[in-house]
Amino acid sequence: MNLLAGLEKFGINSERAQKAEKEMYEDSTKKTGKGAGRKEKETQAQPQSELDYLFPKKVQCVVCTKEFYVKAVKNTKLKRLQPDFDLRPRYQDIDPMKYGVYCCPCCGYSAMSQFFGHLTKGQINLVREQICVNFVRNKEEEPDIFDLETAITRYKLALYCSIVKHARNSEKAYTCLKIAWLYRDLIKELPENTQEEKGKKAEAKDAYNEFYKEAFEGFQKAVASEDFPICGMDTYSMDYLLACMAFSFKQYSYASKSVQNILQSQTAERRIKDKALELKTYIVEQIRKESEEK
Ligand SMILES: [Zn+2]
Repeated sequence: MNLLAGLEKFGINSERAQKAEKEMYEDSTKKTGKGAGRKEKETQAQPQSELDYLFPKKVQCVVCTKEFYVKAVKNTKLKRLQPDFDLRPRYQDIDPMKYGVYCCPCCGYSAMSQFFGHLTKGQINLVREQICVNFVRNKEEEPDIFDLETAITRYKLALYCSIVKHARNSEKAYTCLKIAWLYRDLIKELPENTQEEKGKKAEAKDAYNEFYKEAFEGFQKAVASEDFPICGMDTYSMDYLLACMAFSFKQYSYASKSVQNILQSQTAERRIKDKALELKTYIVEQIRKESEEK
């Protein structure tokens, strides 16, 4: 599957994108990419409340040193809701995740906000050589608030840049996870009345599965090679996330092992232990169900 399809309009040719996708978790130094840019589609009628959570924040690009404004979320205003089963955060009125990527309008460099400023000299050169040279500045006006498809495209640009700059596995995996989470919401939103709509929904489901799988594999690599905290997660949150992902891919022994790590720990918090225990009952139930079906 071509995970990075749809970036052609930013000057990234599809062959390059497919090549980058194959090289996602390879460590070797390879040449990738053409220009990446920024472009957003017009959004439909939006609730006024989402705008109230946003403010323009000035950011300096580490690659081209120019300053630009991003849409930042007023964190103090956010009201946390119950997260999804796999810790995907939820908030009232707004999904801050949609605004989690910074895209430099001057040079095309894009990354999730927490990774945006942290580049080595070598990485800056890679981005300059493979993204900025071909970058064409977007002339369309940015929508006031982002819809899911706009957000997904921005994360895909960030993923492409992370492959080009040889980012750590955790950064690439986390970017894939966010894309998968956004697709999960998009699937719920998409209608399925016509054949065409059904096709689009099926595509979104495939994309969700592929990105979720990439995230699962990438985090396993990250856990084996990086120190905690990884992307803000301690070892138990990561174990729990990996268990959820393994469970969804029917890798029950992997899921059980990760859950046991949490349950047997002396230091894991009650909150995560409770979640792990709940997941364990689902795993046991599912294994029993599937063995009965055989
Ligand atoms: Zn820049």
